[in-house]
Amino acid sequence: MSTDVVIAGGGVIGLSLARKLARAGRSVTLIERQQLGQEASWAGAGILPPGNLSGATAPFDRLRALSVQMWPQLSRHLFEETGLDNGFWDCGGLTVSLGETLSEPYRREWSEEGVELEELDGAGLRRYESELSTEISEGFRLPGLCQVRNPWHLQTLAEACRKAGVVLRENEPVRSFQQDGGRITSVETDRGKIEADQFCVTAGAWTSKLLQDAGYTLSIVPIRGQIVLYKTDTPVIRHVIEVGKRYLVPRDDGRLLVGSTEEEAGFEKVTTEESLAELQRFAVELVPALGSATVEKTWAGLRPMSQTGSPFLGLLPGMDNLFVAAGHFRAGLQTSPATGLVMKQLMCGEPTALDLDGFSVDASCVESSS
Ligand SMILES: Cc1cc2nc3c(=O)[nH]c(=O)nc-3n(C[C@H](O)[C@H](O)[C@H](O)COP(=O)(O)OP(=O)(O)OC[C@H]3O[C@@H](n4cnc5c(N)ncnc54)[C@H](O)[C@@H]3O)c2cc1C
Repeated sequence: MSTDVVIAGGGVIGLSLARKLARAGRSVTLIERQQLGQEASWAGAGILPPGNLSGATAPFDRLRALSVQMWPQLSRHLFEETGLDNGFWDCGGLTVSLGETLSEPYRREWSEEGVELEELDGAGLRRYESELSTEISEGFRLPGLCQVRNPWHLQTLAEACRKAGVVLRENEPVRSFQQDGGRITSVETDRGKIEADQFCVTAGAWTSKLLQDAGYTLSIVPIRGQIVLYKTDTPVIRHVIEVGKRYLVPRDDGRLLVGSTEEEAGFEKVTTEESLAELQRFAVELVPALGSATVEKTWAGLRPMSQTGSPFLGLLPGMDNLFVAAGHFRAGLQTSPATGLVMKQLMCGEPTALDLDGFSVDASCVESSS
């Protein structure tokens, strides 16, 4: 079998790219080792922080800010293409401190980027969220913070891909790449070889493992995050509430996610009693009314963390047609629209909407045995 492009990995990054390429007229085959969208992209909380492209300077901030611009229209387009709702919601966010003062650099970064921010004392915070603990005395509101329901977004993207003609092959791990000099000629799965002009690896935390077969050592490691999902009859809060790396994410049907941990535990995608108990303590400390809420479900996911802290977006050094888009760590959902766009532009030989130098896979990131 042959196609223009093979994409290996069907999370939010692979699906976003596949849709863009197919809509640009390329024939695309996306290969997923299990069912589509069951890994980090499913497990994530779906927080979409705000951004301002005219004020953002660092490469990652620009990727985030471009995505912020794209989310509302993307959600509308996906609905038009599929009739499915991805749960995009401009719910706003509160950043508060629990026992210690708010990080000044964090607050300053938003201001310097020109992101709208409202300073609030305890009473002001509770005017927005009446169930917030009376122990909380300072924070700020980010009206531009939004959210998406990951499983819904993934289903919507997969359906949009189908409608755009992407061949989606599930339960079919990519086993190896066949190479001729600096060109990959095909990938091999248990069902045979697939030839293509271009290949892109979007295998999240498994990217390093997969690239080893092409002779590359690219450092992307799994960082485990655990989540507790509460179910209440009516929503207890409406804003995403963040304290450092911990957060509460309300859904509009009364569900509420509490996250998350950052653990180096290899590929052990399991929850632990200790972390789940800690997340529940955190939730009740922040919003005491959650003390009587029912835990509906818990889970863990593996975030792909690159050695540079930013995703790798580009060609592998020395290769003509092997691309990678992986390593989005805590931000793969939020930055997926811009990632899909710039990778599609790069692979189609078009000018990219952002300068990708800050994301390139240079020789310091890889070792090649080929
Ligand atoms: C608990 C938690 C909370 C998070 N919260 C947020 C958040 O609020 N906002 C945000 O923006 N981000 C969040 N993230 C991060 C975000 O989920 C990730 O950055 C993002 O999902 C990465 O997407 P991906 O497509 O690269 O990886 P994945 O979703 O992991 O997809 C990779 C895919 O590749 C497949 N694959 C692997 N090996 C092979 C192979 N050999 N052949 C074929 N397929 C293969 C896998 O099965 C998988 O489906 C969170 C993550 C976690 C775990």
